[in-house]
Amino acid sequence: MNIEVKPRRRVRGIDPFGAEEIRRLVATFGSPLIIVDCERVRQQYRRLCRALPGVDLHYALKPLPHPSVVLTVLEQGGWLDLATTGEAQLVRRLGAPPERCIHTHPIKRDVDIRNAMACGVRTFVADNPDEVRKFRAYRERTELLLRVSFRSPGAVCDLSRKFGCDPEDAVALARLAAELGIEVRGFSFHVGSQASDAGKHVEAIEVCAQLLVQARKARLGTLDTLDIGGGFPIDYTRRAPDIGRFCAPIRAALARLPARIRIIAEPGRFIAGPAAIGVATVMGRARREGHWWYYLDDGLYGSYSGQLYDHARYPVEALRQGGELLPAVLAGPTCDSIDVIAENLMLPELKAGDLIVGRAMGAYTWASSSEFNFFPRARVVSVNQHSGDTGTVLETPLG
Ligand SMILES: *Cc1c(COP(=O)(O)O)cnc(C)c1O
Repeated sequence: MNIEVKPRRRVRGIDPFGAEEIRRLVATFGSPLIIVDCERVRQQYRRLCRALPGVDLHYALKPLPHPSVVLTVLEQGGWLDLATTGEAQLVRRLGAPPERCIHTHPIKRDVDIRNAMACGVRTFVADNPDEVRKFRAYRERTELLLRVSFRSPGAVCDLSRKFGCDPEDAVALARLAAELGIEVRGFSFHVGSQASDAGKHVEAIEVCAQLLVQARKARLGTLDTLDIGGGFPIDYTRRAPDIGRFCAPIRAALARLPARIRIIAEPGRFIAGPAAIGVATVMGRARREGHWWYYLDDGLYGSYSGQLYDHARYPVEALRQGGELLPAVLAGPTCDSIDVIAENLMLPELKAGDLIVGRAMGAYTWASSSEFNFFPRARVVSVNQHSGDTGTVLETPLG
């Protein structure tokens, strides 16, 4: 009998989001802890690849600028989206090929442009004449995507209010670049994060397709790239549409584009969000007006900062199961009264030392946390980056 054994290519590894592994990781690495599961990073990356076939995915580092996520995306054959000098230097330290990176901050100091160029980055974004002019001195070694604004009041975070030129001004901006001898590769947009549906993406793709045709006709550059940004939604306490279904109208709009246009996207939240959980420890408790108040070592000034800045609501639960459920409040550690994570929860009775787990806490959580009141930021530990990896703390940009 001939049994063919296929090599195991997928790293399955351990499930660091299960109760036993969570306890083990907190015992090893301390609390508060953000646990990144690289296997889930891979799954999210592949899911979005399947939902957007033919689109090159540049992971936007901003929501979780952690080495394990960057390396995992690169190992999957992905690309990177940088916005700051710190991010450029982080990916250089990790050995990321610069031709896999674009720099998409529409407003940069000259020193940020030079720092990114020193890391080997060529492709930048601009959205106004002053910014375009900054590239005149570097026109031999850089090329531009011009960011166009499409307002999106429906998105949880409308990213087209602060950045992007009006579609009516985009061709004139390309003309300015061409006159200065700067290569224009195409247009980009970001309709806003955690989009409720793909309507804005579709509108923006259709308008940008016309802009590409107009600017090509006027011979204003190579104009072979369309960057459709990020915004792909994930489940929080409120569920998001399935990503395949969410992207169906985007796929249809991309299929109508002229031939030979490279399509790229800049997903951040979708890759990092579901791939991490936050674990906090009950420091103490008090009974107030018939409710248990549990005071955790992480809160709104820490990993839960996304509840303020990003308007997210993370599903939280106690690791301890069983027993009667009682009305409870989860509060952060600082002396500030706004530092409350969740009220009107039903939880089993908890004691100091019990663990609280927040799900979908990879994106815009640790990244925007502070050390207010001297409560240290959560440590970030990554698991399953390689087979047999049972938890590694990698150097983070700020630590
Ligand atoms: C924040 C940001 C992203 C990531 O957006 P998500 O909604 O998290 O996918 C991508 N591109 C740019 C320019 C950004 O500022």
